[in-house]
Amino acid sequence: MPTPPVFRFAPSPNGYLHLGHALSAFINFDSAQKTGGRMLLRIEDIDAARCRPEFETAIAEDLAWLGLAWEQPVRRQSEHIGDYKAALDKLDALGLVYPSFESRAEIEKLVTERDANGGWPRDPDGAPLYPGAGKSLASAERKRRIAAGEAYALRLDMAAALARAGPLSWREGEEGSILADPAAWGDVVLARKDSPTSYHLSVVVDDALQGVTHVARGRDLYPSTGVHRLLQDILGLPAPFYRHHRLILDSDGRKLSKSNRSTAIRELRAAGATPSDIRRMTGLA
Ligand code: GLU
Repeated sequence: MPTPPVFRFAPSPNGYLHLGHALSAFINFDSAQKTGGRMLLRIEDIDAARCRPEFETAIAEDLAWLGLAWEQPVRRQSEHIGDYKAALDKLDALGLVYPSFESRAEIEKLVTERDANGGWPRDPDGAPLYPGAGKSLASAERKRRIAAGEAYALRLDMAAALARAGPLSWREGEEGSILADPAAWGDVVLARKDSPTSYHLSVVVDDALQGVTHVARGRDLYPSTGVHRLLQDILGLPAPFYRHHRLILDSDGRKLSKSNRSTAIRELRAAGATPSDIRRMTGLA
């Protein structure tokens, strides 16, 4: 018997689910159902400052109310820090990780000094590509500053990683093969002194450990897939099929956010909407 496809929905419990999440959840659950696949729920709660247990409870309640079901146990990222550390250690052992010590404000200042006209390159999320000196610091100096308790970010040496991996692509829904562009992110952050992993690192580790074969998620994460492919390649992890679906926008044409209460599933439910109404509101029949 061929192994069934594995889908997942991976929200962060930093607010209530909104229509955009419902669209992602429906697409994944529907695909699992149509293909006889498995459906997983993963709680992406590595950002301890913003994630709260009551939002996790609300996620499960909202999904169940929508009529969706998933396998147990649910993987909660905060319980698997050792897995991300192991991946980071592997990248480090390959000489692909270095610490940088500038704060975000110092980075913005450096960038303005380099290009007062705002022309310094920015990543797809709008943050400036790392302009600092971290990569060329001597190893003794790195150790000294870390031992002294300075804050730091652990970054991927993008040039070295690209040289190791060569050109990469991914398989995207109806579009076919897409050329990955991880360089658009520069020396992307993989972990910080107070935060043992990043979204990029934990998502590739988890998708592999959970045997995820199909990732359906919002179009806003399309550019991140370049970094994910690079990390998968270097860490020897399989690449799932990807499908980046349309985003649901508010009346001003902006992406929905968790602070926008009018599109939260539970607000709509309280106002009398049924699960089928929610499905229609996401644009699915
Ligand atoms: N946790 C991410 C979010 O809530 C989704 C990550 C993913 O699907 O890769 O936006």
